[in-house]
Amino acid sequence: HAKANGRDGYQFYTEDMNRQVHERLTLENALREALPRGELELYYQPQWDLEQGGLVGFEALIRWNRPGIGQVRPDHFIPLAEETGLIQRIGGWVLEEACRQQRVWEERYSAGLCMAINLSALQFNEGLPEQVRRILDQTGVDPSRIELEITESLLMQDPDASAGLLCALRKLGISVALDDFGTGYSSLAYLKKLPLDTLKIDKVFTDGVPGNDHDEAIVKSIIDMASHLGLSTVAEGIESDEQRRFMAEAGCTLGQGYFYLPPIPASQVETELLDLGHYATKV
Ligand code: C2E
Ligand code: MG
Ligand code: MG
Ligand code: MG
Repeated sequence: HAKANGRDGYQFYTEDMNRQVHERLTLENALREALPRGELELYYQPQWDLEQGGLVGFEALIRWNRPGIGQVRPDHFIPLAEETGLIQRIGGWVLEEACRQQRVWEERYSAGLCMAINLSALQFNEGLPEQVRRILDQTGVDPSRIELEITESLLMQDPDASAGLLCALRKLGISVALDDFGTGYSSLAYLKKLPLDTLKIDKVFTDGVPGNDHDEAIVKSIIDMASHLGLSTVAEGIESDEQRRFMAEAGCTLGQGYFYLPPIPASQVETELLDLGHYATKV
């Protein structure tokens, strides 16, 4: 702290660093307690059939209801959960909770809906298939209605190991989606080798259609390529009817976004969709 009283700004610098370290520790301790204290919650964003217009399922998205602070979005705590190793327990809880909810809705509504669940790269390891198998067994959920979303970066680091893991997961009867497609490092050659079911077209491309020639071309080629590879496609971040129509005409399978509904709590899914029999109707 020798320079703390200097005129060169070091004082502000160190105090700022101290504050940042302190804030991080506070956040880390709070996050450590979040799960046992029941502060984590899953929201569900509906996914829609772009051709027929019906509700086909949900993507589960985690929220942290932080006492005295409010709701924290995953981008603000998942990276910290990954750095601290907390992601293993949090990710396990997400899998269990989403499958439990899926099972409840299956029984109560028999609506044939699906559940997509996000995975951290750090969860994508040799232990995952066994963990998923156990959760499928315990919850009694129909595996064919569960889709795991993984991001492209980690798949490409070791494509052969990834392919093996994907095979083991799909043997359980679940499907696998590649999230945020087009923003990472995917090589098209590897894509052919990976046993996937779905490509999720990232919102950055949805944002540009219709209107941006490049984005239109990219979206159309992703959808064409996916259909040639036997993969379905999900457009993320649909905010307008024009975007919905463009994606539908380009042949994209499913869509989700604020145009339909934002992620909502389970209770709201029931009152606004399931209780109304919305899954059987067309929008
Ligand atoms: P993602 O999986 O790509 O999820 C899409 C994000 O876009 C979500 O943000 C969703 O709320 C938001 N979104 C959906 N439709 C629209 C739209 O029309 N407009 C706009 N502007 N945004 C839209 P969210 O919930 O904040 O999640 C951010 C990211 O955090 C997710 O991106 C995912 O990578 C990660 N994440 C969320 N839940 C989990 C989880 O349970 N486990 C892990 N490991 N990661 C999660
Ligand atoms: Mg996702
Ligand atoms: Mg995504
Ligand atoms: Mg995204």
